Amino acid sequence: RSFAQCGFDSDLMGVIKRAGFEKPTPIQAQALPVALSGRDVLGIAKTGSGKTAAFVLPMLVHIMDQPELAKGEGPIGLLVAPTRELAEQIHKETRRFSKPYGLRVAAAFGGLSKYEQFKALKGGSEVAVATPGRMIDLIKMKACALARVTYLVFDEADRMFDMGFEPQVRSLLGQVRPDRQTLLFSATMPRKVEQLVVDALSSPVRITV
Ligand code: AMP
Repeated sequence: RSFAQCGFDSDLMGVIKRAGFEKPTPIQAQALPVALSGRDVLGIAKTGSGKTAAFVLPMLVHIMDQPELAKGEGPIGLLVAPTRELAEQIHKETRRFSKPYGLRVAAAFGGLSKYEQFKALKGGSEVAVATPGRMIDLIKMKACALARVTYLVFDEADRMFDMGFEPQVRSLLGQVRPDRQTLLFSATMPRKVEQLVVDALSSPVRITV
């Protein structure tokens, strides 16, 4: 299976090529068609597998397909990761792939000025890349709401729980729309993560690499 077979437009094919991605990694080969079809995905995969592109590329297609894009405020795509380092990598990868579309990718994680992040979210963004605690802080400050989120990703869900972010994850889940697409990635599947899958995903396709 190739990236071209995913039906990406020429803009996206261009950035994929410029990133030096010649063919999909195993997680991408399995997850891309499922995510592009609009279904929920449970991906059991580690960092280094190429999982970031597996959830970012379908998100861009999802957002560009939204006719209501110009209206509304707050992110359409919300990508949640346990640590600042991982969020930074996802932010970088998302910005790289979204460049041809001119999407605004807000950062909502530690290490950067909360005020700058507040301003960026307040000014409007199509995507937010977040750690749970900082996202909730920014929502409390009224930087944005999550009422427009229709594409939600939890990355490294097992680490998120190890770090004690379960209340924050549950709080975020309570603020997004029920009619959304949800993707969850985890290296391991402890009981708590299985429960989150049951609560947050709807008939997910389970992919293991
Ligand atoms: P990730 O597991 O998403 O953190 O990706 C690990 C690394 O592999 C990152 O540097 C990606 O940019 C790179 N990568 C992801 N997918 C591909 C691909 N299909 N071909 C070549 N490199 C890739």
